[in-house]
Amino acid sequence: MTAIQLHDTAARKKRAFVPQDPARVTMYVCGPTVYSTAHIGNFRPAITFDVLYRLLRHEYGADHVVYARNITDVDDKINAAAAAEGVDISVITERFAKIYREDSAALNILPPTIEPAATAHMSEMITLMEQLVEGGFAYAAEGHVLFDVTAYEQYGALSKRSLDDMIAGARVEVAPYKRNPADFVLWKPSKPGEPVWESPFGPGRPGWHLECSAMIEATLGQTIDIHGGGADLVFPHHENEIAQSACAHGGAALANYWLHNGFLSIDSEKMSKSLGNIVKPHELLERGVKGEVIRYAMLTGHYRAPLDWNDTLIERAQKSLDRLYGVLRRFGGDAQPGDAPDAVLKALRDDMNTPKALAALFEIAGRANKAETETERAEAVGELKAAGDLLGLFQEDADAWFGLDALSEAEKAEIDALIAERGESRKAKDFARADAIRDQLDAKGVQAEDGPEGTTWRLKG
Ligand code: AMP
Ligand code: ZN
Repeated sequence: MTAIQLHDTAARKKRAFVPQDPARVTMYVCGPTVYSTAHIGNFRPAITFDVLYRLLRHEYGADHVVYARNITDVDDKINAAAAAEGVDISVITERFAKIYREDSAALNILPPTIEPAATAHMSEMITLMEQLVEGGFAYAAEGHVLFDVTAYEQYGALSKRSLDDMIAGARVEVAPYKRNPADFVLWKPSKPGEPVWESPFGPGRPGWHLECSAMIEATLGQTIDIHGGGADLVFPHHENEIAQSACAHGGAALANYWLHNGFLSIDSEKMSKSLGNIVKPHELLERGVKGEVIRYAMLTGHYRAPLDWNDTLIERAQKSLDRLYGVLRRFGGDAQPGDAPDAVLKALRDDMNTPKALAALFEIAGRANKAETETERAEAVGELKAAGDLLGLFQEDADAWFGLDALSEAEKAEIDALIAERGESRKAKDFARADAIRDQLDAKGVQAEDGPEGTTWRLKG
């Protein structure tokens, strides 16, 4: 087995992936803060690490990979949303966690093995905080508990920031209870009306960084193989997770590989509320864009590179999938997935090069098309299906993809035959016959699309 190469943010280069225990490969990804419907940027890490999860399951066996992706259900934005509606935070978090799971399923994102919620791990957060205070890495002040960044020598190593620069760069208005301007909050008092938990340091609520450190230890252990998230989380979130966990665990590394996905922009602009350009898969799905189209569009870029999201990207993804589904419809039938194709595996093992993996799909589709024997064809189709399982594509029935569910087998066969005859007529330069068939197809409401892999068709909407 060729080793998987992963770009490690801490090492600033690709490294061969060696798990601590191949029988239990562990991965944690910072999940959504459930205060509103997730946007397309939030789904970039979800899709990126879903591809890695699928690859790891392929390499080590489905039962040997433990993937935890948390639900951040304690957060100021959640408090604000709950206050605005006059409801308990659980009303908000349950509503948006449910939508997140539904959207994820529509995008063929596998449920993680474990989905810890911050509210379910309060006692572990408090224990971690106590360990840090006892060890002299954190201190209580004015109802807050703060991490003393000078107590951890390697603070800043992940993001390559020097502590002096961080202290100098800290905003002028530093809270009076902080020893160093760069110290960060582990625990803070809740404002009146906000949810509150008891702790030995006074009532309050945990900071976001503490939530992840505690959930990682609770679900996966002290040192995990892979930690992932968006590039915006490198500093301060992941830097702080490392500091807390390493100091509480006698210096043990929190994660052996740090992976970060690049940012997604919309029509070349930063996605933001003020620009009003926030794209949500939930709304795209409601408008009839297929989940696999959204997923395919996401995979056209390498996960570490910035990706620009726009309508053309979606249209191209639809066309590409139509071509591939067309091949599956013509030759696939109910073929079972075969062996995963080498070209796709090779691309994915090379730091999840999904653009290369997608290009390989067309090579395989071409092979299915040109196959001279049934065995050859079946092999190519099996490879296509197996590649689909690795990439989270081709999970739909090919007839359903083209909206042909309502047609009987006889009706479909009749149109397939007409399409085939039209192709033959054209080849024989019998254009009169080809045009006559086109008219016949038109009358049946069939919209045919010719492409390099042959003709696909659907019914006009
Ligand atoms: P949040 O729900 O804000 O905690 O974010 C969840 C995840 O989405 C984090 O890993 C972020 O890094 C990621 N994320 C947010 N916006 C974008 C974006 N525009 N492009 C890529 N990833 C993003
Ligand atoms: Zn986190």
